[in-house]
Amino acid sequence: MALILYNTLTRRKEPFVPLDSNSVRLYVCGPTVYDFAHIGNARPYVIFDVLNRLLRNMYPKVTYARNITDIDDKIIKAAKENGEEINELTKRTSHYFWEDMKALGNLPPDVEPHATAHVNEMISMISCLLEKGNAYVSDGHVLFSVKSFPYYGQLSRCNHEEMIAGARVDVAPYKKDPEDFVLWKPSETGIPGWESPWGVGRPGWHIECSAMSLKYLGETFDIHGGGQDLIFPHHENEMAQTQACFGPHTFARVWLHNGMLTVNGEKMSKSLGNFITMHELLKKMKGEIVRFVLLSSHYRQPLDWNDQVVQQSRQSLDRLYNAFRGRDLNVEEPVFEPIKAALEDDLNTPLAISVLHDIASRVHKAIHENEKNKWASILKASGIWLGLLQEDAENWFKGKTGIEESAILSLIEARNKARAHKDFAKADQVRQELLKAGVLLEDTPQGTIWRHN
Ligand code: AMP
Ligand code: ZN
Repeated sequence: MALILYNTLTRRKEPFVPLDSNSVRLYVCGPTVYDFAHIGNARPYVIFDVLNRLLRNMYPKVTYARNITDIDDKIIKAAKENGEEINELTKRTSHYFWEDMKALGNLPPDVEPHATAHVNEMISMISCLLEKGNAYVSDGHVLFSVKSFPYYGQLSRCNHEEMIAGARVDVAPYKKDPEDFVLWKPSETGIPGWESPWGVGRPGWHIECSAMSLKYLGETFDIHGGGQDLIFPHHENEMAQTQACFGPHTFARVWLHNGMLTVNGEKMSKSLGNFITMHELLKKMKGEIVRFVLLSSHYRQPLDWNDQVVQQSRQSLDRLYNAFRGRDLNVEEPVFEPIKAALEDDLNTPLAISVLHDIASRVHKAIHENEKNKWASILKASGIWLGLLQEDAENWFKGKTGIEESAILSLIEARNKARAHKDFAKADQVRQELLKAGVLLEDTPQGTIWRHN
């Protein structure tokens, strides 16, 4: 089967045909580093990590670029509020971001350009837009003239006047038209600024992604990703800028957008104040549990974060880890084909997860040890396609209880002795004691095993 992706640009599922099958190029909008990332922010990075892994398994070379927005008015405001230097804030927040990405099991992108290191590239692109008549200078600002670009609106396909009222678009006196957006703005003293033909200033957010994707992926590349909230205005504007410079068929060919993560049905966002940061969450649970939740529904659907999905994901992971715990694993086993097929069908991660469960059942049902080991190895090899199940199974169960493994094992032994002497009251007492510590015992034909409750 071939890879099929839902393209926001055409609103259809389409077979993916790279521009150059020897070099596939993917761009994902990265974080604006002014604060801790929340679980909603983590969703696109986990989804596009699965896409990156899949592409790497299909093509000899993949370039995955994900930027860091380290200049933005939100950053300037936050630094002022914290009484912190801007570069201290962006450095600190980027480090937290990388820690979160690692804990979530995301592979690092191939290039991670920082906006502040690419201001010259942004200035060149803005100059190009001015030369072509798609931009104008007004009151120290440079603005993109939306009316000058006939294809504007092709991605979001919306009534822009209505959207402008609701989106991150400022109405300002220096704009000829309210839908025009900022490419460059002046910086007063005390605010970061770069020399430019229009005075000392700083770039607008949208031009950052156009300039950085151009530098690392070229005028035209394969896939661009981000959350659905970025379709308008951010992605519409990125596309308008690049296409106004290089022609209508340039920039990303396939656009992928993940659905929003909600809490009790409301979008998780910093402005609504209903967010849970990854940083806090990771103190309470393993990153792999968060990853599992994020992959448990299809990426284009909304996903509600609640205790129940967390609990289910924890239990699923316990079951899967249990299936290869203590098994003799052969690292050469290939991925199970149905996993690949599920991912190739527009990244159907919930289906892929149900296939993982199916493999675990095969481990349990197999009669011969060899067969059990084979399915256990296939489970581990398949998990890697989703960035799951890569921890050592013993470690997985160990880190999760408030009691040392050696203590658990000696209590299990005491319970077994009690059972052998038909002292069932004592055996039950040990079981309850372990349960209180969060350890659940399971008696199997191979003996007693334990897992986190
Ligand atoms: P930001 O740093 O706000 O630009 O967001 C970084 C990424 O997270 C973007 O791709 C956003 O679309 C995405 N994002 C923000 N909030 C959510 C949410 N609640 N659910 C899913 N994705 C989100
Ligand atoms: Zn972007």
